[in-house]
Amino acid sequence: MTQDEASLEARLEEQEAFDPPESFVEQANVTDPGIYEEFAENWPDCWERAADLLSWEESYDTVLDDSDAPFYEWFTGGELNASYNCLDRHVEDGASDRTAIKWEGELGETRTYTYGDLLAEVEAFAATLRELGVEEDDVVTLYMPMVPELPIAMLACARIGAPHSVVFAGFSADALATRMNSADSEYLVTCDGYYRRGDALDHISKANEGLEGVDHEVSDVVVVDRLGDELEHSLSENQHDYDELVAENEGASVEPVSRDAEDMLFLMYTSGTTGKPKGVKHTTGGYLAYAAWTGHSVLDLKPEDTYWCAADIGWITGHSYIVYGPLALGTSTVMYEGTPDYPDKDRLWEIIEREEVDVFYTAPTAIRAFMKWGTEYPEQHDLSSLRLLGTVGEPINPRAWKWYYKHIGNEECPIVDTWWQTETGGMMITTLPGINTMKPGTAGPPLPGIGAQVVDAQGEEVDAGQAGYVTVNKPWPGMLRTLYNNDERFINEYWEEYSDEETDEWVYFPEDGAKIDDDGYITILGRVDDVINVSGHRLGTMEIESAVVGVEGIAEAAVVGGDHEVKGEAVYVYAIPEDGYEGGDDLEERAVEGVLDSIGPIAKPEEVVFTPELPKTRSGKIMRRLLEDIASGNELGNTSTLRNPDVVDDIAAQVGDD
Ligand code: ATP
Ligand code: MG
Repeated sequence: MTQDEASLEARLEEQEAFDPPESFVEQANVTDPGIYEEFAENWPDCWERAADLLSWEESYDTVLDDSDAPFYEWFTGGELNASYNCLDRHVEDGASDRTAIKWEGELGETRTYTYGDLLAEVEAFAATLRELGVEEDDVVTLYMPMVPELPIAMLACARIGAPHSVVFAGFSADALATRMNSADSEYLVTCDGYYRRGDALDHISKANEGLEGVDHEVSDVVVVDRLGDELEHSLSENQHDYDELVAENEGASVEPVSRDAEDMLFLMYTSGTTGKPKGVKHTTGGYLAYAAWTGHSVLDLKPEDTYWCAADIGWITGHSYIVYGPLALGTSTVMYEGTPDYPDKDRLWEIIEREEVDVFYTAPTAIRAFMKWGTEYPEQHDLSSLRLLGTVGEPINPRAWKWYYKHIGNEECPIVDTWWQTETGGMMITTLPGINTMKPGTAGPPLPGIGAQVVDAQGEEVDAGQAGYVTVNKPWPGMLRTLYNNDERFINEYWEEYSDEETDEWVYFPEDGAKIDDDGYITILGRVDDVINVSGHRLGTMEIESAVVGVEGIAEAAVVGGDHEVKGEAVYVYAIPEDGYEGGDDLEERAVEGVLDSIGPIAKPEEVVFTPELPKTRSGKIMRRLLEDIASGNELGNTSTLRNPDVVDDIAAQVGDD
């Protein structure tokens, strides 16, 4: 490192607030700070701003119907079709030749669908689904990897008013069966396989195994042929080849059905990081308006953009911000099949350079991996097309934020750290990139019109600096309407904790811990279940993790509480050293110091275990429950939902070793 670079690093390290660059502000979709007041004063009518981004077949009578809270209804009386909004209207506006989806396979092949192409494909598949007998309101399960046929199938379902339920391709056969059973779904669209790190992966065997666990008759299964000769598979009687069926319907025209604003658009089972999957129900009007509005105001999407959300469509992030939000706004959205380090660790940067990506949205876990790999990979590419960066899924610690800001954004792109959930449908707490100052490590203020607060156990707002819980005291259009076929669990899970039924005051509880600062910026501390109680002090695991990964030489860390005879619980740290560093006494000492400096002696780690990997769920979130069991010396629970089950034994062998 030269002296100049070293002083630049030092300056960045100390800087706590960053203003959006002038060049960004000048062109941003939303720049008037008055929007916060405007939304507060005109609530709930302010949400017409979101609804106005859509084309309605029948305009709505009421913005918000709260007569049966917390079963809120939005834009009641309105009718629209999501596929019409994502496709036809852009074609009618003359954008038929604009790229809608730019798909890239792991081996390098690409497919480009213009809005015109995509509409034609969607109509052909919608006709196919109808032929198979799919009717309005039938739930169609889509168990598919990142192939273009996935968004095509989603939009085809939307076109005929059949809600989809996408099951992440990395999930097990069992997970597929559970979800099909829960949704009474009689139709499945799946795929023979896909590529991972250059290998052809068999997916159809897993799908077939899952089908055996379905407790009702499955009438039809459509199979996309992704692997061709690479994988031989046979189709049983009710299984059909996607291409054959679609070829028969080429050129078909299928009118988009008029859906009530409150009709279900899709079901999405949450990732299950914390327990039994919940079938989150999202609707056509409110959800789509909210995905479009947040895509417009937070991701700053414009029709001429090339935009890339490097998530999987199997998660809500992919639903809202690869498919529905960007397509409703007429943007070009990038879809990548594979892993970020295949064939090499610069794959993503290579795609950004080649496609001239304007806006890039990813997860902190990915950013920490990029950091670990080193700056030489992004440095090989010209990333100057980027205008805005985003993160979602977990808190991003300041060191990773600054790395992203400098090495990917070249200090010229604002970063939006977006807090939201499967249940919220879209972003809830984040800065508006053309307005707010950014503070690395804190998500930001609630979006305009969003009643997010930080409260104590009694529901009273906490003082700045105090830890508490996030709650949302006003409904919003993108909110889940219920858990599928389980209104009771919907109430128990999200509303019971802080609502007062007698006074009809309903407060949504996302089950995340947080704190708030003097400017109203909210820092998420992690799930309520992840709070550790050391000698009566409540500590947020994510806050300690952020302190540990703030130490030079540590790439990623997980912190959990383990049983302790005296303290009740003690802090255990599992950490991955950065490339070029060794996990040893020196690094351990610095990790402990990092925690002491930023939190205090109460959070002093009992043990720091270095490991090359952490156990992660398929969505990339750390499975803390397992690490807790290891720390407490308990028998280990089910590890089958892990992406990397082998690491658990390796880690367990090390604990207590030194
Ligand atoms: P499940 O609810 O099934 O256990 P999950 O909560 O991991 O799984 P998601 O809905 O995908 O499923 O994740 C939402 C959660 O992710 C939030 O409640 C929060 O804990 C975390 N999260 C998301 N974005 C952020 C962010 N920007 N900062 C901090 N935490 C975040
Ligand atoms: Mg959750």
